[in-house]
Amino acid sequence: MTFTEIQWTWRRISLPTGETFVVKGYTFNPWWGCLKVSEECKFCYAEDIAHHYGHDVWGPSTTTTRRFFKERHWEEPLTWNRQAEKQGHRRSVFCASMADVYEDHPSVHKERQKLWRLIEITPWLNWLLLTKRPENILPMSPWRRGDWPDNVWIGTSVGLQERAEERIPYLLEVPAVVRFLSCEPLLGPVDLSPWISQLQWIISGGESGNNARPMDMAWPRLLRDQCQVAHVPYFFKQVGGRYHNSGGRTLDGRTWDEIPAEAPIRNKIIV
Ligand code: SF4
Repeated sequence: MTFTEIQWTWRRISLPTGETFVVKGYTFNPWWGCLKVSEECKFCYAEDIAHHYGHDVWGPSTTTTRRFFKERHWEEPLTWNRQAEKQGHRRSVFCASMADVYEDHPSVHKERQKLWRLIEITPWLNWLLLTKRPENILPMSPWRRGDWPDNVWIGTSVGLQERAEERIPYLLEVPAVVRFLSCEPLLGPVDLSPWISQLQWIISGGESGNNARPMDMAWPRLLRDQCQVAHVPYFFKQVGGRYHNSGGRTLDGRTWDEIPAEAPIRNKIIV
């Protein structure tokens, strides 16, 4: 399994010498398949990928199942964890790019339990869980205040102001060390002022694909400015367009690649 090119899963490690280096991350999918829940899902790239490979796994539980994987697939993160431990720094894992971990589909309950166990036995991996169903995070997760693992960062997707108002209050109930927003595809201006001081990271970007809905650059600028005032790391993923790199990655003449700072968990660091 190779590292992912999804740049918000990369981490920058600073050495005591002042030198910094990039540590690439991984993606892991406990299953494939989902059900669209909001306007942001309209041109879901994951659904297109699944169809491309002949898997009909998008839709309600009454008509569709999900795609599951064998044990070999589940063992991969154990290998990554061992490697990260040897190297002395955590690697991030985006989970799941082809599903929503908190989907309430009856066939995924068993796999979700497996995922929680996997997360608990891989402390050298930094699990990034991103959901459009934040109301399910606490009911479906096994952890509570005081025992939420420090290797789980939890995020929700917010592409419009209405989604911010619906979803962020649920996210803020989660006692995770990092609570983040993915404002992608960004479909309108979003005012985060009621919540931003309680968030640890904002990612934003425009939509890509054949039907990409255009993003007004004033929208990511507004998010960036709010982050700067509140001292919250801001990551600008892409302008968007037909291809993910069509519009580039710059906003006001530069890239924005901030990620939350973490204390090193070992002083041994091998790149
Ligand atoms: S929640 Fe995510 S994976 Fe599911 S349909 Fe929406 S965009 Fe696609």
